Amino acid sequence: MRRLTAILFLSLVMLAPARADIAVTSAGFTPLEHGTRFVLEMSEEPTHRVFAVEDPPRLVIDLDRVSFDVATPAEADGLVSGWRYGALTPTAGRIVFDLAAPALVSRQFFLPSLAGRPGRLVLDIVEAEPAQFARAARNATGANRDEDPAVTPNAGGTIVVIDPGHGGIDPGASTGEGMLEKDLVLAFAKKVRAQLEGTPGITVRMTRGDDRFLSLNRRIRIARAYGADLFISIHADAAPQDYVHGATVYTLSENPSDSQAAALAARENLVDEVSGAIEPELKEEVSGILADFMRRETKSFSFAFAEDLIGSLSAKVRMNAHPHRYARFRVLMAHDIPSVLLELGYLTNSNDTKSLLDPSWQEEASRAVAAAIREFVSTQPGETAQSQAIGSSSSTQ
Ligand SMILES: [Zn+2]
Repeated sequence: MRRLTAILFLSLVMLAPARADIAVTSAGFTPLEHGTRFVLEMSEEPTHRVFAVEDPPRLVIDLDRVSFDVATPAEADGLVSGWRYGALTPTAGRIVFDLAAPALVSRQFFLPSLAGRPGRLVLDIVEAEPAQFARAARNATGANRDEDPAVTPNAGGTIVVIDPGHGGIDPGASTGEGMLEKDLVLAFAKKVRAQLEGTPGITVRMTRGDDRFLSLNRRIRIARAYGADLFISIHADAAPQDYVHGATVYTLSENPSDSQAAALAARENLVDEVSGAIEPELKEEVSGILADFMRRETKSFSFAFAEDLIGSLSAKVRMNAHPHRYARFRVLMAHDIPSVLLELGYLTNSNDTKSLLDPSWQEEASRAVAAAIREFVSTQPGETAQSQAIGSSSSTQ
């Protein structure tokens, strides 16, 4: 098993470009007669791909070896109604354009650096017929799918997959001082993993261990590939009111517990769209009595773990007034993996932010999460003939 992982890792290293050594130093828009010209200044010509995404119309540019060092990002202009950029992986960048109308890149070229001026990548974006745009978007689907990790043979014991929310081009929420949710939750997830290291019967995996973008479905697919028995997505979001505070544990439900939970789920569910991911909503095509049974079982395990987690956390950290809430979070939609979403606190609340940045709080809170995981695992029945039968039915989907 370990050797297999090593081989996979090596082949990934060899396939991946060495590093993000092409810096984009400026980006701007100029109007064209029938569209908008986008110009990126950078040291050398990157390998890049442009693709269209529908509903709402967007254009996405993925650039190998590129990172962003743009001092003052230009305002969107013309056909581009909004735009953002950031890391897709540690060795690739992504730019997303929101389009005012369906549009495609009609022409693109690179002007090498000359007389001390940086090189320029130029893309001309022009309006397209809706049908033409739809065709381009359909062609893009599938072609830009990232590889998931190979399904790992059962490592033995309980597999806990920790999912640090957001990442790469999707920063999540941020504090007034510019600390980003994606960085805080990654650091916290690593602390939980460290707390569980060496625990007999528990193997911890993470959906991401660095600053990269993962779509919501991909997080679920990675958890499945690892054979997850428990999935914990970790977040630290923002609330419209700055007095909203404390840790909250969310589980999946079609009917939200309250309007705040519904609003949070809606915001979280939008991150794929904002980040240019082109994956449709996860459709679980399993039906029948066994699947129903599994869905109910998963739901009750998720619920039980949420309660364990709240019990363990409340002894150590400030909890939300209603610490267990539910809503329709896409990242919790695996029908076969008990899943919870943990909001550590709100970056819009100054006390929460202070806690989240405090190493001793991080230590206490990560220890409490690890304790809840141990508690949950210890109360789980072992692999019975029945749960194996149900487990194998899910792998045929
Ligand atoms: Zn979040």
